[in-house]
Amino acid sequence: MAEKLLEVKNLKTEFRRDKTMVTAVKDVSFTIHKGEVLGLVGESGCGKSVTSLSIMRLLIDTPGKVTAGEVLLEGKDLLKCPENEMRKIRGSQMGMIFQEPMSALNPCMRIETQLIEAIRLHRSLSRSEARKHSLTMLKTVGIPDPETTLKSFPHQLSGGMSQRVVIAMAMCCDPKLLIADEPTTALDVTIQAQILELMLRIKNEKNTGILLITHDLGVVAEMCTRVIVMYAGRIVEEAAVSELFKAPKHPYTQGLIASVPKLGSGVTTLPSIPGNVPDLSMMPKGCKFAPRCKYVMDLCRNLEPELKTAGQDGMRKCRCHLLNTTNKEVSAL
Ligand code: SF4
Repeated sequence: MAEKLLEVKNLKTEFRRDKTMVTAVKDVSFTIHKGEVLGLVGESGCGKSVTSLSIMRLLIDTPGKVTAGEVLLEGKDLLKCPENEMRKIRGSQMGMIFQEPMSALNPCMRIETQLIEAIRLHRSLSRSEARKHSLTMLKTVGIPDPETTLKSFPHQLSGGMSQRVVIAMAMCCDPKLLIADEPTTALDVTIQAQILELMLRIKNEKNTGILLITHDLGVVAEMCTRVIVMYAGRIVEEAAVSELFKAPKHPYTQGLIASVPKLGSGVTTLPSIPGNVPDLSMMPKGCKFAPRCKYVMDLCRNLEPELKTAGQDGMRKCRCHLLNTTNKEVSAL
């Protein structure tokens, strides 16, 4: 087993809404090992991005606050780091790629200035050394004419090229952990495949751990070794990717997988999960998925299930009362 890189333990993040606090992320725990890609999936509003922003401590300009838990990067609790130390860790030890590359780049500055600044912020290199390193990074991410790209402004680049620049910027100081939040959602399909391939290549070369946040199960199948499914701010299932696709245990995961189109299946209408993710201030009392679940029982409406180990190796987990119900009882539902 590879070394542990990031351990998130019982993370809880709350947001102030009017005069009350609502819980956006609750009791989230997981581990990423060096060189591993962990997928975090779920519909919009399930708490995926809040989880990543909580890990990076980037909730500062929002009404959100981490109110419990630990985020250990190689054993160091990031939640206890002073902000000036956290600023050094972001960029040097943790890189982040967002969905919209243009929002990560300053539209008024040439790529050259932005890359050199990012490098010199974390490494004691001269301007010319940092420029040389920028060129190397642009070549690493597959930019065909790095000199011209360095001199460009962001608006002169295509979406795919901009995302490559953002990846170069995120990787320029060799971070141990890369957090990629929907990195290919804004790109068309062929560019999407190139960017995913690039991330995998960088991971293999540098042994980077990646937390990949996506709503796209196709991306998960291609990139990840393990996957966590989130719903209403909670982890509802965790499994090796192959296991999850072969036999999803949680009704929500089953619904997500059933709604993915399969080539050659002949199916013309895909099933969807009825209803919506609950509003944070109006969470159901028991299982948060109960209003949408076709297996709902009285127990589900009154008692929130715990996340329990569901496989023999201890690596598979699921949050559902059905786990405690015998097969006979389930078939009678
Ligand atoms: Fe459905 Fe009940 Fe399981 Fe929730 S606990 S997912 S409502 S069966």
